[in-house]
Amino acid sequence: MTTLRAAVKSAYTLSNINWVTAGFMVAFHLLAVAALWFFSWQNLIVALVLHWMSVGFGISLGYHRLHTHRGFKTSRAFEYFLAICGTLTLEGGPIFWVATHRKHHQLSDQDGDPHSPREGGFWAHVGWILFGDTHHNNTELMGRYAPDLNRDRFYRWLNSYHWVPLTTLGVILLVAGGWSMVLWGIFLRVVVGLHGTWLVNSATHMWGTRRFETRDDSRNSWWVALLTFGEGWHNNHHAHPVSARHGLAWYEFDISWITLKFFSAIGVVSDLKVAKVREPLPAEEAA
Ligand SMILES: [Zn+2]
Ligand SMILES: [Zn+2]
Repeated sequence: MTTLRAAVKSAYTLSNINWVTAGFMVAFHLLAVAALWFFSWQNLIVALVLHWMSVGFGISLGYHRLHTHRGFKTSRAFEYFLAICGTLTLEGGPIFWVATHRKHHQLSDQDGDPHSPREGGFWAHVGWILFGDTHHNNTELMGRYAPDLNRDRFYRWLNSYHWVPLTTLGVILLVAGGWSMVLWGIFLRVVVGLHGTWLVNSATHMWGTRRFETRDDSRNSWWVALLTFGEGWHNNHHAHPVSARHGLAWYEFDISWITLKFFSAIGVVSDLKVAKVREPLPAEEAA
């Protein structure tokens, strides 16, 4: 029986390459570079708005803090909206993402972690996607690791057809602004978003500070937090996975938390879970 156990590091050989994924990744990166020759302020604004929607709403608020960890509550309609935003990143459907990420928390930096830098920084960043056994379209298998989402027909559909919203968006941008807007709003924007998310798997398990003595290598990284709407406070997150707030000190800027506070104030979300952390007093530290 195939299991997720197969997602541990495989060798960098030609026979292990996921050709379809690798083909898309190479094409997206080439077209992202091509976008630089087609700059316009309009294209930049479209890309930034879509970046916020896809990585900020889709990944940080949706896939991560809501669908994986259930750090807050919201309506079914808003849940679905966040999941659709998540697919716009090309990081796969919600069941795949949530199953992979729960596995990462269960086995962080141990055998079976889908993307630990203990198997190399490149592996943690993108190697696992290009060479690993990620099962990203196997809704049946991944569903066993995210049974809550698997019970929902919409999530099962979206997991298998996660490319549909992104393709639809591409057509809309093509009609609205031509190929240059597609280059910026799809290709460059997706590539920047992917590397931002991947840095959480690679950089914040290698570089940064540790506030909590977790059993993994997770770190807090201010610059990854800035690139990912607050996801870089990753040591805080491993210590308190359910907390919808990742930046736990006033100086730990967490855009997603600020967004959640706003959504809570206007009644879109509720029941925000927040880690209770008692900062040690300087006198205690000295003792
Ligand atoms: Zn982690
Ligand atoms: Zn997490």
